[in-house]
Amino acid sequence: MSKPWRLQEITYKEVKEKKYEVAVLPIGSTEPHALHMPYGSDAFHAGMLADRVCERAYEEGAKVILLPTIPYGVNRNLTGFPLTMNVDQKTLDAVVRDLVASLEQHGILKLVLFNGHGGNEFKGLLRTLYGRTKVFVTLVDWWKVAGDVRDAVFEKPGDHADEMETSVSLALFGELVHMEDADDGAVHPTRFEAINEGWAQITRPWHLLTRSAGVGDPRKASKEKGERYIEVTVKRIAKFVKELSDAKIDKTFPFREDWNV
Ligand SMILES: [Zn+2]
Repeated sequence: MSKPWRLQEITYKEVKEKKYEVAVLPIGSTEPHALHMPYGSDAFHAGMLADRVCERAYEEGAKVILLPTIPYGVNRNLTGFPLTMNVDQKTLDAVVRDLVASLEQHGILKLVLFNGHGGNEFKGLLRTLYGRTKVFVTLVDWWKVAGDVRDAVFEKPGDHADEMETSVSLALFGELVHMEDADDGAVHPTRFEAINEGWAQITRPWHLLTRSAGVGDPRKASKEKGERYIEVTVKRIAKFVKELSDAKIDKTFPFREDWNV
């Protein structure tokens, strides 16, 4: 079946007939995800969830195009684990900036950065791009979108290869998840209360923080929980993409034009 929102799978014949309003760019990471999830997890999450978002938005009439996924992310603090592949933030920013320039040239003036990795931080880039491009760039860290339902779906909070990420992985690429190898995802405390409480921030050296690269207990994960979380997440982002597609860029965009100071 044809997937007309996937740029990698369509031809010039199709593209030249179309007008696109919104591009979606998934960005992931290549790093260990405990003993039970694959190195590609963050890139798979971003690419597959963005695909579901674009499918739904397209079906609702959005003029959306899904760009190929960037599979690398910012991972200096995980390089204590073998085959963690790091790309510095400034390198990643430069790639995104060049893609923004390409979109601008092609007249696609709305872009959703669909981020799948906590180490990638694009807020600084958004500020840097402001006033320097006609493209309206918005950032979505997908795992935060359904944060308000997270506690209702999952029992054990964590932040890397945890119950939530594992459940989503079981739903999206279960054949690559090895639940029999999942451990408790326990973390080591530092010697400083300020850091353990979180108000003094550090970049965590992952090989000292964790036993197996996981943070959070994934053993209660299930495909069903993953599907529930995905449904809320995809529905919300697809609605946003459709609204973006329909929106006209005028002088008060993205603010409401009917609001008087
Ligand atoms: Zn992850």
